[in-house]
Amino acid sequence: TKFVYDFTEGNRDLKDLLGGKGANLAEMTNLGLPVPPGFTITTEACKTYLGSGEEPAALRDEVSAHLEALEAAMGKKLGQADDPLLVSVRSGAKFSMPGMMDTVLNIGLSDKSVQGLAKQAGDDRFAWDSYRRLIQMFGKTVLGVDGELFEDALDAAKTAKKVTVDTELEAADLKKLVTKFKRIVKTEAGRDFPQDPREQMDLAIHAVFDSWNTDRAKLYRRQERIPHDLGTAVNVCSMVFGNLGPDSGTGVAFTRDPASGHQGVYGDYLQNAQGEDVVAGIRNTVPLAELETIDKKSYDQLMQIMETLENHYKDLCDIEFTIERGQLWMLQTRVGKRTAGAAFRIATQLVDQGLIDEAEALQRVTGAQLAQLMFPRFDDQAKVDQIGRGIAASPGAAVGKAVFDSYTAIKWSRSGEKVILIRRETNPDDLDGMIAAEGILTSRGGKTSHAAVVARGMGKTCVCGAEELEVDTKRRRMTAPGGVVIEEGDVVSIDGSTGKVYLGEVPVVPSPVVEYFEGRMHAGADDADELVAAVHRIMAYADRVRRLRVRANADNAEDALRARRFGAQGIGLCRTEHMFLGDRRELVERLILADTEAEREDSLKELLPLQKRDFVELFEAMDGLPVTIRLLDPPLHEFLPDVTELSVRVALAESRGDANENDLRLLQAVHRLHEQNPMLGLRGVRLGLVIPGLFTMQVRAIAEAAAERKNAKGDPRAEIMIPLVGTVQELEIVREEADQVIAEVQAAAGTNLRLAIGTMIELPRAALTAGQIAEAAEFFSFGTNDLTQTVWGFSRDDVEASFFTAYLEKGIFGVSPFETIDKDGVGSLVKSAVEAGRATRPDLKLGVCGEHGGDPESVHFFHEVGLDYVSCSPFRIPVARLEAGRAAS
Ligand code: PEP
Ligand code: MG
Repeated sequence: TKFVYDFTEGNRDLKDLLGGKGANLAEMTNLGLPVPPGFTITTEACKTYLGSGEEPAALRDEVSAHLEALEAAMGKKLGQADDPLLVSVRSGAKFSMPGMMDTVLNIGLSDKSVQGLAKQAGDDRFAWDSYRRLIQMFGKTVLGVDGELFEDALDAAKTAKKVTVDTELEAADLKKLVTKFKRIVKTEAGRDFPQDPREQMDLAIHAVFDSWNTDRAKLYRRQERIPHDLGTAVNVCSMVFGNLGPDSGTGVAFTRDPASGHQGVYGDYLQNAQGEDVVAGIRNTVPLAELETIDKKSYDQLMQIMETLENHYKDLCDIEFTIERGQLWMLQTRVGKRTAGAAFRIATQLVDQGLIDEAEALQRVTGAQLAQLMFPRFDDQAKVDQIGRGIAASPGAAVGKAVFDSYTAIKWSRSGEKVILIRRETNPDDLDGMIAAEGILTSRGGKTSHAAVVARGMGKTCVCGAEELEVDTKRRRMTAPGGVVIEEGDVVSIDGSTGKVYLGEVPVVPSPVVEYFEGRMHAGADDADELVAAVHRIMAYADRVRRLRVRANADNAEDALRARRFGAQGIGLCRTEHMFLGDRRELVERLILADTEAEREDSLKELLPLQKRDFVELFEAMDGLPVTIRLLDPPLHEFLPDVTELSVRVALAESRGDANENDLRLLQAVHRLHEQNPMLGLRGVRLGLVIPGLFTMQVRAIAEAAAERKNAKGDPRAEIMIPLVGTVQELEIVREEADQVIAEVQAAAGTNLRLAIGTMIELPRAALTAGQIAEAAEFFSFGTNDLTQTVWGFSRDDVEASFFTAYLEKGIFGVSPFETIDKDGVGSLVKSAVEAGRATRPDLKLGVCGEHGGDPESVHFFHEVGLDYVSCSPFRIPVARLEAGRAAS
């Protein structure tokens, strides 16, 4: 194997081998763009090194050969005393990875060659500054010296000289600093800073290899699900200098606006500076457009190159460049990050420019981006007073009064106030407060902190880790930079999509994308509608190519109508238990507690017309489209009074000597029905089998409602779904009774209602015996919420708020399996159940109605295993449509 590729030998398709940076440097080189010569050491070399602790035997010679070629091309040798070739050593994995070593610049400088560099450049200061940077970067990233020691020494030098910026230090000062830095290295690393340039280079290469396995890098990979065995490439590139005077400089640029997608000149330039100065914000950059007046020749060349890159990559690119004494050099390019809105606009702009086709446009956007565009957001015309910025942990725009503890959050929200719960960090005790709040703000913790995980789970706006805000929960106040104090009750606004925190109320505007889906806004030509027009076109394309149908989880006509406007092709799950809440709860209580058949019949008779009305409305809203109605599922205790409250009431009454007969009876029943694990108890089909008449009442309501709609010339398409089935026998019993009722209703109505009966697959046993169950089911709908709960043994109501944070932090999974389907475990059960079910009944209809039905990654999985449809909450329907299209194209 070949372990080293010259930049002229690689190309952009070799990312596995050369990493992203190396592959793109090679691509630019081959395009004839001015890239400083260099070479890339492959990820294969890294893997061998990490596996055996030693670099591959051939590597040293290969590096030598490439270095010699580089030296010949540049006309000077690495570290040559009178005129040194200097190189940078940079890491570059297939996926860009924070937490890995990035760059060591100026390799090749030594006590001797620093003099040569000074002479060649005619600039002492420059040479000594480059040398001190090398010792600093090398000391920190290669030798593991605490970086602050160098920073402190630099600060001390500035203070001694009474100056504030680095550039005011002169050659003599920097020379002294070099001595100091070398001393730091010696004491801290226990060795001298290496004077041999090749040793410098080799050590830096090994350090890049080793950085693949730092704790931070490993954690990042676990969370992002990047395989651990990819390894990183190493780029060795000849140095060019942007800090050689006013005719030099460095900059970054985008080939088009990453916020709007508009073509134009976007970027920043810093004269007389090296790359890290731009990032460090040492001096103010100027807009890239100003380069035209500073150095017209380089500017024109850069514009030309940007056009070449866009046409070549057929996408927005970002680039880093350096100008050394009037000569432009390209240091990096990659396909650039962009906002969600820009992703849609750019995709359609590129189609219009003829650069990509519609299938490709669909791959350029994601459901997550669409979801982001569907949150309400702050009016960007509004005047704002930003007081801080944290991590955008859970999107949305929330406004409310600042409260600093959960108790106050609950109390205030009960009295109708909107509140933002502000904590240093949250823990499970804050749960009720988080529920009560409009949004959550913390000053500590990252994307996987408790606040972030729980808020995302609740769909609540959250900004976390806003470290510049000092939260003092004891004194109920928060201090922002500049001494601004926010007391309890002061209004704050938080933006969960940007992480920004504002003082006062920022007006919220509805999402134009939602307005469009709702039909309140049309895809016009006017500039404000540009985004909507782009979304419109991409959605139309997704709908054209997708195979999966998309249905809604909806229990009432209002939700059903909204879902339909959002593009739902039916209802995949109507949870009938939601129809038994409120006033009707008492009727159910009576049904459950009925002692005699007559009593039971009575309450069923009262429930029937209510249920029927519900269904008529639903069929009307979804006329012509399938509506899957699930028979009653939840645990019984949800319909009964709380056991503790009732016990207290009865005990008090007894002590007063006026215990009432009904309460006693109720208490007995509540005790009798109490379960330790209600989610594993009397739910779903079990309930239907135990309470006579319950399921048949529901089936009758469905059948009669369908008959009524038919009479009214409607087109009802009802499907009856039995929940929590574990064995075909359960289903057979329910089916038999249901068929009889349906036959009766059909006979009475004189029409064929064509009601399909199917089941949920939401228990491992159901999945494992899917072949048998399909004998009695015309369709399966995978209930991946319960299936995840039972396959993992995770209580779906508890774990996300308890130990999931720890699991996410340890990287056991990157995302909750309740959010994204666990392909290896739950997913493989789904897959085998699909196969077994279809083997029994080839025309078995297959869908999914757990939360995963609206999750982008899961939708792709469901497409792959061959489901017919996914069903999700109305708001997620556009996301599911888009992802189904992306999966199919
Ligand atoms: C499921 O379990 O995935 C499901 C859709 O049913 P529910 O969430 O109502 O239990
Ligand atoms: Mg379920």
